[in-house]
Amino acid sequence: MARYVFITGGVVSSLGKGLASAALGALLQARGYSVRLRKLDPYLNVDPGTMSPFEHGEVFVTDDGAETDLDLGHYERFTGVAARATDSVSSGRIYSNVLDKERRGDYLGKTIQVIPHVTNEIKDFLKIGADEVDFMLCEIGGTVGDIEGLPFFEAIRQFGQEQPRGQCIFMHLTLLPYIAASGELKTKPTQHSVKELRSIGIAPDVLVCRSDMPIPDKERAKLALFCNVRPESVIAAQDLKSIYEAPLAYHAEGLDQAVLDAFGIAPAPRPQLSKWYDVVDRIHHAEGDVKVAIVGKYTQLEDAYKSIAEALTHGGIANRVKVRAEWIDAELFEKDEDIAPILEGYNAILVPGGFGERGTEGKIRAAKFARERKVPYLGICLGMQMAVIEASRNMLGLEDAGSEEFDHEAGDSRYVHVIYHLKEWVEGNRTVKRAVTDDKGGTMRLGAYDAVLTEGSQAAEIYDTLDISERHRHRYEVDIAYRTKLEECGLKFSGLSPDGRLPEIVEIPDHPWYIGVQFHPELKSKPFEPHPLFADFVRAAVEQSRLV
Ligand code: GLN
Repeated sequence: MARYVFITGGVVSSLGKGLASAALGALLQARGYSVRLRKLDPYLNVDPGTMSPFEHGEVFVTDDGAETDLDLGHYERFTGVAARATDSVSSGRIYSNVLDKERRGDYLGKTIQVIPHVTNEIKDFLKIGADEVDFMLCEIGGTVGDIEGLPFFEAIRQFGQEQPRGQCIFMHLTLLPYIAASGELKTKPTQHSVKELRSIGIAPDVLVCRSDMPIPDKERAKLALFCNVRPESVIAAQDLKSIYEAPLAYHAEGLDQAVLDAFGIAPAPRPQLSKWYDVVDRIHHAEGDVKVAIVGKYTQLEDAYKSIAEALTHGGIANRVKVRAEWIDAELFEKDEDIAPILEGYNAILVPGGFGERGTEGKIRAAKFARERKVPYLGICLGMQMAVIEASRNMLGLEDAGSEEFDHEAGDSRYVHVIYHLKEWVEGNRTVKRAVTDDKGGTMRLGAYDAVLTEGSQAAEIYDTLDISERHRHRYEVDIAYRTKLEECGLKFSGLSPDGRLPEIVEIPDHPWYIGVQFHPELKSKPFEPHPLFADFVRAAVEQSRLV
């Protein structure tokens, strides 16, 4: 049975609980332990699939096709452990399961209550796969005191009681605000937050305190005394230049030691941190930089494309350069003006995934600019569809080329559908069927699918293999019927689904670097294992920067 670390937050939200959890996971791995990270979110949406990226940031997709919170992306990037559908749950999912059981009569006529029915459902979730790893790290979303979070706090309290002593510990993240007028870090909000936690029966073993400066001994002693933790278990977490410094910074502060001490593990195995020293060294000693334009829709909130931003950073790590990613609202490119003066300042252009018609004409213009000016182009999901529409219109002369997705919104059929709505596909050995009118949640081709690459193609060279598996999240597909005509014009279909029906990768051999992929390579990139497409895209951007 795994040991459990429950990670909670107090005082304010956005303290970086996900990052602290991910960094702790990396540190436990560095000491030779196996880990799995989980997120429990108090919101009532059944999953984040239908939540706006403007509000909630990116939807992270797992191999087994779950649409999850973006914190699972952090977990994967720091530990390399592929997240699963069972690593993310929300109140909405828990209640939905409980109500389904109630309707089925599983509770044999009992009155259904938060305690024990909802809390039992949460505890059952916590136990999934408990025998597979040494440590299970479970992060509770939100802040202690939130009404909707209470069932989760109650469930982890019960869970801690039910397990053998020493099997579960609690780590609490708070903020130490700095009051300039008195020149002090204030501990009172943390004291209150811990009091709140203790009032619901949870006593933290480790306190992680975000602050703008090191915690003076006096404040550390005060926190230890008032919050009932050991002074060495008060961990300072200061802002970092790069998130990938977090494992080393937390290690220097003694986080992993404090956690192992709390479990009574002694002597603790020595950590192997060379992987992280190498990553940080490459970030700190970058030799030059490149500018990448990301032409997308959700540009106000950087979290909306979190994994893309991180994958570009990883591409920079692979090439020892700093990648300056700049977000450009595609709608800016829909005016009549020349877009060249804006895009000329970049060494590469990336068009990310997206939904709906808004901004697509701007993205198509960006793809055209990249193709004609021979600027490296990476089109991801919708970005590949844009590249195919652009090639169909301007290389093939199919003026009305478009996507069925845009008709659906406008209610008429204005386009020749080079991109069509996929209604049936093969998943493993079963056929999946979907209609446009199905529920919005979960009607997509989701999760990992295999693809076969064409021998001798640029894609095959970059991946250094012909068989790949990548994660998908889309409803529409490039119509394979246009393959021959588009290939004659110079756009090659260099990756296909194993049955040969679904285009997965397109590329232009007569271009330094022009690739569109129907999947999301960014979801699998790690700082210590940059995704080959991102590593090579950044390499191409470096080459382009030498030309200008
Ligand atoms: N809207 C497109 C589709 O559903 C692309 C989705 C995406 O970019 N993730 O096919």
